[in-house]
Amino acid sequence: MSSPSRARRRALLVGVGGLGCPAAIALARAGVGTLGLCDDDVVERSNLHRQILFRDADVGSSKLACAARALREWAPEVDTRVHEGRLLPGGAVDLVGQYDVVLEGSDNFATKFLAADACALAGVPVVHASAVRWIGTALAVGRGGAPCYRCLFEDLPRDGAPNCAEAGVMGPVVGLIGAAQADLALALLDELPAAAGQLVTFDGRTGEFRRRGIRARADCALCGRRARIRSIEAHAYAAPESTGAARCAANDAGCAS
Ligand SMILES: [Zn+2]
Repeated sequence: MSSPSRARRRALLVGVGGLGCPAAIALARAGVGTLGLCDDDVVERSNLHRQILFRDADVGSSKLACAARALREWAPEVDTRVHEGRLLPGGAVDLVGQYDVVLEGSDNFATKFLAADACALAGVPVVHASAVRWIGTALAVGRGGAPCYRCLFEDLPRDGAPNCAEAGVMGPVVGLIGAAQADLALALLDELPAAAGQLVTFDGRTGEFRRRGIRARADCALCGRRARIRSIEAHAYAAPESTGAARCAANDAGCAS
C-alpha cells in the first residue's frame, strides 16, 4: 500500500547488504520518493544468496553503484541517491538529518552505534536490523529517541565475538528481517504511534515472529535523564577494522550484510 504523502518522504539505507536490499525494494514499491544509499563494500559471490539486488555479473563491483542501478531499473520513479563510503563520524549527523527515516543494516557495531547516536542527535527516526545464523532482529526508534539502541546494548563490545563469516547467516532470515525493517520504517514514516520502541525478532528454526515493546533505561547514555552523548566524537567509535569488521554475537546484537 502506498500513499501520495510517501512520495515526499526520504529514507536513508546505511548498508546495502542482505538487509538493505530487500528493504530498499519494499520502500521503493511502497512509494517512498527518495532512497539514499550508503555503503563502501563490493559485491561478493558468497553473499548473492541474500543480497537480492545484485546479479552474478556484479561480483567484484561496488555495491553502491550496483544497487543504485538496480533500483533505478526496478523503480525509476524513485529518486535514488548515493553517498560514497560508509557512515563516518564526520558529517554523520548532517547526512542522517537530510532524511525522514534511517534504516541501519550495517555489518559492524561501530556503524550501528554511530547511526544510533547520529539519528538521536538529529532527531531522525531509525530502524536498526541485524541477523546471524537463524536469528534476526529489527528495532524501531522513534523521533523522540527513547527507547533507543543503547537502551538494549549500552556500548560497543570490546571482547571477541564470532564474525558473520564464521557464524554464517541464513539468507531467508535476512530477507524476512529486511522486510520487517522496511515495515517498521514505513510505520515510522506514517507516524503510527505503535511502531516506536518495537523490537521484532524472527527465529528461523521455529518460524516464530515475536514483536514486543522495549523499555527505555533511565540511565541510558543516549536517551536517559542524564544523557552524556551530546555530540559525535570520533574516538567513541573504534574503526570497524580494529574491532572486527563483521563481528557479531549470537544474540540480538548480531549483524549481517
Ligand atoms: Zn536509550
